[in-house]
Amino acid sequence: MSHDAHELAAALLPDGSELTVRLADLADAEVALELMHAAFRARPVVGEAPEALGDDLASVRARIAHGTGYLAFIDGVPAGLVMAARQLGAMRLGRVGVLPRFREQGIASFLVGVVLEHLAASGEEHVHLLARKEFPQILAWWAKHGFAPDDEEGNCIVMARSLPVAVEVPDADAMRALGERLAGVLRAGDLIIASGDLGAGKTTLTQGIGAGLGVVGPVISPTFVLSRVHRAQGDGPALVHVDAYRLGSFAELEDIDLEESLDTAVTLVEWGAGVAEGLAPGRLEIDIRRGIDPEDETRWVFLTPIGPRWSRTALAEAAQAVPGVRAPASRAGRTPKTPEETP
Ligand code: ADP
Ligand code: MG
Repeated sequence: MSHDAHELAAALLPDGSELTVRLADLADAEVALELMHAAFRARPVVGEAPEALGDDLASVRARIAHGTGYLAFIDGVPAGLVMAARQLGAMRLGRVGVLPRFREQGIASFLVGVVLEHLAASGEEHVHLLARKEFPQILAWWAKHGFAPDDEEGNCIVMARSLPVAVEVPDADAMRALGERLAGVLRAGDLIIASGDLGAGKTTLTQGIGAGLGVVGPVISPTFVLSRVHRAQGDGPALVHVDAYRLGSFAELEDIDLEESLDTAVTLVEWGAGVAEGLAPGRLEIDIRRGIDPEDETRWVFLTPIGPRWSRTALAEAAQAVPGVRAPASRAGRTPKTPEETP
């Protein structure tokens, strides 16, 4: 299967249509301009007209040339866009829009997710944007996507967030080595939530973490037992390995009494996104992605530390020091790809 080199991600929507996201190049300026006008004209008018309506072909070409443009298509029809440009040492997002007839399908969330992963995999650490104060629902939307108010500029709030640490993992051995290295920054009480499709490498990474912690093995998929406790061989923390695939809610997760071991162990929950967050005030989220090309075994691992216990720098240093694992800075222009999924 051959894929457009600019293509970053593809997903099937519930109605069977295909959502794709790719990088824009100069030849896309007209499409991008039309998207801007159509998406922003449809916004509620508060105060002056949205700035995006003032764009023309020349300004859009300049935006693409000096920054990064992301375009979303539904079955090949342009549906949404995001522009990113460096400003004040970090990437600023702008012109985030989805055409009215394509809204309410999770397209903006998917598009922004792809943009954040692409920026992280390009070595960016922070991202920010301006949101108009008079639209609280828009501020809330960005908050849901990890952004927090950071500053004010005129009638706008600067919303900012840090990006996950991203590394490229070529094979299963490198995934285990990554886990082993990450174990060095883990301690009793830590909660890790691992996400990624079946076969992404969550259990393989956990095997490395188990080896790094020096716990009694073997670490295998806990699918049939929900949770397995691996005692420490030395005086380090135990590893509690949980598979939440069949658990529908936090209440069901509570039934397996994880709280009891939480303080003395490192707890890693596969498929825990959306169910296990309530176990602890902070957590390390690990998202593992395969590429669009099924022949390619490379995985992208995104580490998102949440809460004051974690240091992004310490995580980045640990992850990027693993032999065989590539950090974004050495990637020279390659782009990550995310797997098929339904937003
Ligand atoms: P999950 O727990 O996410 O369902 P597993 O770790 O059980 O996934 O399985 C991942 C499979 O993919 C293993 O068979 C592993 O050997 C293989 N594999 C191939 N390349 C990689 C890679 N780069 N990272 C992790 N696993 C890989
Ligand atoms: Mg597994």
